[in-house]
Amino acid sequence: KRPRTSTGSVDEDSTSTTGSTRIRILCRVRPFLKHETTDDCITLEDRTVRIVNQRNPAEAFRYEFDACYDAQASQSDLFQRDVRPLVDNIFKGLDATMFCYGVTGAGKTHTVQGDAQNPGLIPRTVEYLFTNKRMRNKLKYSVAFTYFEIYKESVFDLLVPRDHHSSSGLPIREDAHHNIFIPNLTEQSIASYSEFQRAFQAACRNRSTASTKLNVASSRSHAVLTVQITWHDTVRNADLRGRVHLIDLAGSEDNRRTENGKDRMAESGAINKSLFVLGQVVEALNTGAQRIPYRDSKMTRILQQSLGGRSLGMMIVNVAPGQKFYLETYNTLNFATKSKTIVNNARVHAVAATPMEPQYGAVGLGKARRGSGA
Ligand code: ADP
Ligand code: MG
Repeated sequence: KRPRTSTGSVDEDSTSTTGSTRIRILCRVRPFLKHETTDDCITLEDRTVRIVNQRNPAEAFRYEFDACYDAQASQSDLFQRDVRPLVDNIFKGLDATMFCYGVTGAGKTHTVQGDAQNPGLIPRTVEYLFTNKRMRNKLKYSVAFTYFEIYKESVFDLLVPRDHHSSSGLPIREDAHHNIFIPNLTEQSIASYSEFQRAFQAACRNRSTASTKLNVASSRSHAVLTVQITWHDTVRNADLRGRVHLIDLAGSEDNRRTENGKDRMAESGAINKSLFVLGQVVEALNTGAQRIPYRDSKMTRILQQSLGGRSLGMMIVNVAPGQKFYLETYNTLNFATKSKTIVNNARVHAVAATPMEPQYGAVGLGKARRGSGA
């Protein structure tokens, strides 16, 4: 078995031999936007992210990831280096799952969906499958996709207009083999990348209309896009399948702080719970725990077969630069990383001290430990 590459990408055969279920965790820092004050508080060095402790500027928190992407990193860099190797595994009949986690405004939708000028991971993945299809013409596979939203623990199909389904959403079922499925979810076959683009654009518009009708911003729902390839394996004489799930998670900000009202509370509760459960599932997989709490939220239940086992997973942690996001960045990093070190801040500079109440500090994936310094 060949070693992992320096960027930590999975090489061709590592999964088939090790069956590793570790979820790789990446961090991506977006650039400052035009109207933003460029008071940066994040330093990237290799695979580490460092933020100055606002309470004690002589100290900094250092977090280690499997890979980091700075503001200059392009959509293509991210896809080629870390996502394409994940997608390659579906040709072996495996599943791959990729999440974007972070607060609203941190760059999740940009990363997963992107726009016409900067297509994100979804269009790049599908385009790759079709480019690859030509290259791998020995393997004749068909491609289909589903796209749904999970809002307050209910599932809504984004491939049908909002008016066409019940307000309670689609049911989730379990078959005799404990496979979870959503019976009436639309599965759209696609024969080319351009066909996908048309269908996906319509679905994206549907996502925003659906959200408007629910009177909710799309940042409060999880959007799950699944691309599936199926083919007939002549050697094994069996029909095989590989899937990739690309997920734009609900914003991880704690809405309880800013918004009141019963609806918002229920909604925030559902978001916080599902993200908390996802964090626990990732941690359980990464520490090799016996019990993986898939059943504790709709999303992890639906993704159960594609997380763990012989599947590959990745979480991209999106953060926004600037002091304005300091607390959110701190919470996000604490939630997402396994290793946090407290180090001396070599370049001490004064920062306005603001009271901090970390909400996720105690429940994240990370465990703080004291380090010897930068
Ligand atoms: P989220 O989905 O996490 O709420 P968005 O993806 O909508 O965040 O990003 C917020 C804003 O930042 C958008 O205007 C988006 O175009 C921009 N943005 C995010 N990431 C990048 C990036 N890597 N490069 C350039 N612009 C970005
Ligand atoms: Mg978004």
